[in-house]
Amino acid sequence: MPENNTPIDAAQRRAAPALVCYSVDQLPAFDMSLYENARMGMQKVSELRVAPRDGETFEVPAGHFFRIVSIEGPQVGDLNLWNAADFSERFFSGKTRQLHATHVSTGDRLWSTMPGLRPLATITHDTLDWYGRDEDGGGIHDVIGTRCDPYTNFMLKGLDYNNCCHSNLTRALASAKDMVPEEAEMHIHDVLNVFMCTGFTRDTHQYFMKASPVRPGDFIEFFAEIDLLGALSACPGGDCGSSHSDNSTQCYPLLVEIFKPQDGALNDWQPPTRSGYSGHHGI
Ligand SMILES: [Zn+2]
Repeated sequence: MPENNTPIDAAQRRAAPALVCYSVDQLPAFDMSLYENARMGMQKVSELRVAPRDGETFEVPAGHFFRIVSIEGPQVGDLNLWNAADFSERFFSGKTRQLHATHVSTGDRLWSTMPGLRPLATITHDTLDWYGRDEDGGGIHDVIGTRCDPYTNFMLKGLDYNNCCHSNLTRALASAKDMVPEEAEMHIHDVLNVFMCTGFTRDTHQYFMKASPVRPGDFIEFFAEIDLLGALSACPGGDCGSSHSDNSTQCYPLLVEIFKPQDGALNDWQPPTRSGYSGHHGI
């Protein structure tokens, strides 16, 4: 219960119109024909399997596509992305949420951190785009949640657990780049929750998850706007329909596939440049 009295003009104050914060029609346009043209005739050049409750890294050259594919059963994945040449530029979940929505799909971009602030990747296909919003307000592929991590788990349960997505991503990056765990961990950031079905409860506005509708054969596809390093964790929560941060749930592997577009398909395309802001901050 609130501790303060409702002012007499409360209704008037609450009636202020809700405005979308950013004029997203001013964002660089999603040119479907460019991406569709590049997708036609693309060839798979590599793939890798991410084991349940573990993580892997992968590299995607600018102008290539990559897919995250459900293969053996419903499974949620936690995705990190970096500029392959400069790890200080990485996926910016919060700004992606502000510019697009709480959940992303075809046509949305995965934006990079400041001062770069440019698209790292563009979503070019999503077999779960039919899901939309369910009656609980849930949607797929969220940029709300951070990632399951051993610190929150320890705070809540007093237990050490080493296969949360945060740790899986840390191990994967440490192994790929020959970093000590402390160094790798600094680079792990808020994720895109691939295939995860989430929302906010209507009464208390708390973050909820429910069993992912993903099934084997489903995939989400991205176009790499710059040279990328990715890391993917197959979440210990499996389909995230019951629990996470423990070994109680059935988990499945995920597949990452990399595709090269047909020669010449991107002749008119240029990778996005870093933000043009001067960087002076009034100093
Ligand atoms: Zn997780």
